[in-house]
Amino acid sequence: MNPNRQFVREAALFMREHDRFLVLSHINPDGDATGSALGVVLMLEQLGKQYVVVNEGETPEKFAFLPRFDQLRNLRKQPLEEKFGAVIAVDCADESRMGDVRSLFDSGVRLLNIDHHPTNDGFGDVNLIRTDAAATAEILFDVAEELGVSFTEELALCIYTGLLTDTGGFRYSNTSPRVMEIAARLLSYGVKPGEVAERCLEEITFAHVKILRRALQTLELSHQNLIASITVSVDDFLETQAEREDAGGLVNYCRNIEGVEVGVSFVESEPGVVKVSMRARDRVDVSLVAKQMGGGGHAKAAGCTIRGSLSEVKQKVSLVLEEAVGVKSDE
Ligand code: AMP
Ligand code: MN
Ligand code: MN
Repeated sequence: MNPNRQFVREAALFMREHDRFLVLSHINPDGDATGSALGVVLMLEQLGKQYVVVNEGETPEKFAFLPRFDQLRNLRKQPLEEKFGAVIAVDCADESRMGDVRSLFDSGVRLLNIDHHPTNDGFGDVNLIRTDAAATAEILFDVAEELGVSFTEELALCIYTGLLTDTGGFRYSNTSPRVMEIAARLLSYGVKPGEVAERCLEEITFAHVKILRRALQTLELSHQNLIASITVSVDDFLETQAEREDAGGLVNYCRNIEGVEVGVSFVESEPGVVKVSMRARDRVDVSLVAKQMGGGGHAKAAGCTIRGSLSEVKQKVSLVLEEAVGVKSDE
């Protein structure tokens, strides 16, 4: 049997053989993480199973159009006493991406790990990892078919949202024929593409524009113009009253500049903690760069979180990138 099919079967079996599940995605969830977690929830409902769906922190309001969004618990605001013996983790490249939700695991916990990051280390008891998938949601499409659950409009919407967001609106190089085939099927189940794109890609908050305005003033080129970076400090958040999620997508302004190979954003989320996002054009595999600094991701989109001041973190990343692009930093 196709080994992929075997792993899909094992994942489906895991969902059938337990009754109550903890469903989670990664910290600072994106469209694939949220769509996939809620997609799993809808499948469990169809199987007559019980679940609690949790994230360590807040899920961006922009995903509030997704079904069962109101079921998503923010563990920081709504602590839970219960411990779980069966866990489904989606879109988590490694164990640490689950954050504090790990405190809800029973000692004999069994974990199903469904993911598409090449840096995934197979931390589950059952691992369904397909690095050729554009999104975790693409893998869930196969799981739903294997389970024989029906593709309701709601389930289709969750999967479509993961596909749309992780391919940057079907533009990135991970947009395979299969992605388009699955997307077409999902549209036939009732998904309205214009509405989903409006929510996920087009609509921005005013706070995002205010942060963007400040961030663009920090944009700098280095490493013989092969690297472009942008910096957002805690003060920028305070002065614009923006939330962390309002700083999403800034890194694309760097990568998109003609001739730039790697775009980087340095976002200081709290004093001494800097979230580094990287986007590559052709020459550099940024997942390897991120991995060297304790993070992970994909060849063209990766990230890590580093402790230190903004200038310390920028210097550290600059040195690692020096090696990756083969050109000395020249600031
Ligand atoms: P971001 O820059 O946060 O949009 O992330 C880009 C990609 O890298 C996504 O696929 C993330 O899942 C992954 N990623 C970001 N931060 C980390 C991290 N600390 N560890 C592992 N993967 C990460
Ligand atoms: Mn993700
Ligand atoms: Mn993903």
